[in-house]
Amino acid sequence: MSDFPETDRNRIHRIPARGSYDRETVYQIIDEALVCHVGFAREGQPFTIPMLHARRDDTLYLHGARGSRLFGHLREGSPVCVSIALLDGIVFARSAYHHSMNYRSVVLFGEGREVETEEEKERALEILMEHVAPGRWREVRRPSPAELAATSVAAIRIQSASAKLRSGPPVDDEADFGLPVWAGELPLRQAALTPQPDPESRQELPVPGYLAAYRRPFLTVDRNP
Ligand SMILES: Cc1cc2nc3c(=O)[nH]c(=O)nc-3n(C[C@H](O)[C@H](O)[C@H](O)COP(=O)(O)OP(=O)(O)OC[C@H]3O[C@@H](n4cnc5c(N)ncnc54)[C@H](O)[C@@H]3O)c2cc1C
Repeated sequence: MSDFPETDRNRIHRIPARGSYDRETVYQIIDEALVCHVGFAREGQPFTIPMLHARRDDTLYLHGARGSRLFGHLREGSPVCVSIALLDGIVFARSAYHHSMNYRSVVLFGEGREVETEEEKERALEILMEHVAPGRWREVRRPSPAELAATSVAAIRIQSASAKLRSGPPVDDEADFGLPVWAGELPLRQAALTPQPDPESRQELPVPGYLAAYRRPFLTVDRNP
């Protein structure tokens, strides 16, 4: 996979050694995350909206209600900036100044187009659902024509992107190493708890395997168990 070209738009200025333009790194972070924040500007007013996303090749799919401001913006082919952050830990330094976070994050740029045909729309919804829970789509009732009509799906071609990754202990000043202050990392991770069946269910069904063992892939950084 080729790198994203480094330009004025996606160049990381602060601690560039933590930056990456490697497409595979960017895509691993996108694929692990369940939530992105979509940023766009309307008449000079910036908005950022948290949403579910899913990627296939160089395309990011979003779905939402037909009338929303964001989908109006995407329908016009106007630009968006999407950010994603996976939080891996809190970094406690001996000095207030050097506290930090361990993370893997992405900022990407692109323009949207509305997915028009029912066939492509249904395929995009399948990609979104499989991003959340692989195996789910083949079990559920498919969207009715009315449900499809009420849903907008946008396909954003990822034109430019950057990733930034921090891991490891604090970077304190050597003069502070002897201070009687605990320093280190509090690792964090998103964990699935026990699935809770819907009380409205008319039958008692076993929990699907993809939920019983649900976890997001942890691909790029060594982590404590
Ligand atoms: C969970 C989390 C918490 C953070 N907390 C802080 C904080 O409190 N204060 C702080 O200053 N910084 C924080 N950062 C880092 C922050 O995201 C920026 O990287 C930082 O502000 C420096 O940006 P810059 O000046 O290099 O880039 P900018 O000039 O702001 O941006 C230029 C380009 O660099 C790229 N870029 C910048 N940041 C990132 C990123 N994180 N991931 C991918 N691409 C990026 C984008 O393509 C962007 O268009 C945090 C990051 C994460 C993920």
